[in-house]
Amino acid sequence: MNYLKKLPERKKSPENCCSSVKEENKYMNPWQSAIQREASKNNSLGFGAIFDFLKTTFTTPERNQKLKVDLDIKAISDYCEDDKNIALQYTWLGHAAVLLQINTFTILFDPFLSKRASPIYIAGPYRCRDRGFQKFSELPPIDFVILSHNHYDHLDKYTIKEIFAEEQNKNRTQVLCPLDLKKWFVGLGIPEKQVTEFDWWDDYEVTRIPESVDVNDEAAINEALNSPSNRKITICAVPSQHFSARTLFDRNESLWAGWVVKSSDVKYYFAGDTGYRSLPDEIPEEKIDKLPYCPIFKQIGNIHGPFDLASIPIGPFTPQHMMSVVHTTTRDAVDIHIDCNSNRSIPIHWGTVENLGVDDVEEVPDLLHKELDRREIPQEEFHEVYIGEVVKLYKKN
Ligand SMILES: [Zn+2]
Repeated sequence: MNYLKKLPERKKSPENCCSSVKEENKYMNPWQSAIQREASKNNSLGFGAIFDFLKTTFTTPERNQKLKVDLDIKAISDYCEDDKNIALQYTWLGHAAVLLQINTFTILFDPFLSKRASPIYIAGPYRCRDRGFQKFSELPPIDFVILSHNHYDHLDKYTIKEIFAEEQNKNRTQVLCPLDLKKWFVGLGIPEKQVTEFDWWDDYEVTRIPESVDVNDEAAINEALNSPSNRKITICAVPSQHFSARTLFDRNESLWAGWVVKSSDVKYYFAGDTGYRSLPDEIPEEKIDKLPYCPIFKQIGNIHGPFDLASIPIGPFTPQHMMSVVHTTTRDAVDIHIDCNSNRSIPIHWGTVENLGVDDVEEVPDLLHKELDRREIPQEEFHEVYIGEVVKLYKKN
């Protein structure tokens, strides 16, 4: 059984540890970097692009098949056997879905693993790449499903139902989500005690304690929590610059977040879905750095970093005046990599979902490589993986 204990609240301040802001039932991004810009007259989308976008909304053409899908199920299943040496094992499942194995815990982030990211099955953004496995029984039991926010390409009803329908997960899996999203899971039939809401900067210590421990017996719980033989990790929610909505009427009624997971060996940061700076459609390169940027990544780096590994989203970012508030260009992504103090980052939110924007979802890693070269940052610091590729970080001693 995984036992969650809330750690003491952090002292908040806008400069060092900014709190979430809710005004009249709606959350907001309290930074200048989140102020939306006007569309430029010269650079608005042409009719051709809009027509293409609408046309492909209802179809799933076989394009963008370059990204390899090859899930190493054996490495995922055998992870615990080499847990003495492996500090963290990371598998990207496409888009923002990440399978993290750390100190014998299995965590699944933002599992959009069905076909359509939309309230209706016949239209909307869709996965153009497979997920690499058939059934959840092929994967280890999931300890935690962690959500960054409620958009359809991150929170997918079909995948959540599929996870909880699996015998090995039914009573074990716990959902961790940002504030005001718990009711969505409870509405789906997931027991309330298996869902925990986090505000920005909430930290929970997770301990795997024997099933035999009585959770109502405080002395027994304390003994289990203090026993060095019981595995522990810490899970923390952190801010992101984004928004939430599943219908036309619920915009920003639930919070959005990034996540940090730490063991005594390793620190991991999942940035989820986020913007960095609000850009006009047209701006000379040299002026970009003068625009306000989102201050939270430095705060996250100061409080929780340096990170051994980070998942940072890239794109979609066209049209720029609209997308840059909530998504990152490759330049923004590299800034986040630096600000949060990550030793190694892996791009997410690319290559998998068509029709989220109008960008070519496969071209983004090339832009990332160019951006790293421009800034003389080694390519291996921030390199893409294919879907199903297993990345292992080894313990240092
Ligand atoms: Zn989103």
